[in-house]
Amino acid sequence: MVELRQIRKTFPTGDGELIALDDISLTIEEGEMVAIMGPSGSGKSTLMTLLGLLDTPTSGEYILDGIDVSRLNRQEQARIRNRKLGFVFQNFNLLPRLTAQKNVELPLVYGRVGARERAERARAALEAVGLGHKLNSLPNTLSGGQKQRVAIARALVHDPAIILADEPTGALDTRTGAEILALFRELNRDQGRTIVIVTHDPEIGRHMDRVIGLRDGRLVDNILSEYYGVEVLEEVERTRGLEPV
Ligand code: ATP
Ligand code: MG
Repeated sequence: MVELRQIRKTFPTGDGELIALDDISLTIEEGEMVAIMGPSGSGKSTLMTLLGLLDTPTSGEYILDGIDVSRLNRQEQARIRNRKLGFVFQNFNLLPRLTAQKNVELPLVYGRVGARERAERARAALEAVGLGHKLNSLPNTLSGGQKQRVAIARALVHDPAIILADEPTGALDTRTGAEILALFRELNRDQGRTIVIVTHDPEIGRHMDRVIGLRDGRLVDNILSEYYGVEVLEEVERTRGLEPV
């Protein structure tokens, strides 16, 4: 379980500091699939880098599975990251000269897993995202949706309990984005993974278990109503749980 207590994150500026996140307290339960939504600059990616142990909060506490991880050094952060967390980004972040399989193997190279086990685990991860037939393809020969599947396989290769995805459908057309979202839902429902997705797309937001809203670095209620209007939000609340994804 993820628990944030009064998290604040500031960045130094020329003449003071910019408050990117302020007084953020929230929990994300194991097995939840939640969206983080809010306007550009509201602090979504900053929140993801903290959740992902890629940065540390200026103040406040981050409790991950009962352990306070807010003040760990980089090495300790990396160890927990490798054990528990998987990342997916908007622009896939694949290495262009490596095949799909080699891209997926990369996190295991850093983790000092032997070559044969690496290959097996990468193949299994690619099969799990429906790309068992593209092991040897280079990224630029794949469609956007296929590239994102490779990136998801790379995130899965460590078998993380939590997947953090920052605008994973932002570079995809609507239909491909829906397919990627369905894949995340499968990883959540069938494998029990906790999934946190940053999105600007209200259509994605309404298919989540819950939406965490941010504005100006603070939590806000009912961010979906800003995108949809209050009537539609009420409609969504009424039908929640009945929506197919
Ligand atoms: P978008 O929807 O455009 O991706 P966001 O909600 O992800 O926006 P963040 O990237 O979290 O927004 O940025 C929140 C605020 O913190 C912004 O004002 C941004 O300029 C600032 N910020 C983020 N990272 C840094 C950094 N490394 N150094 C200085 N300021 C930063
Ligand atoms: Mg962002």
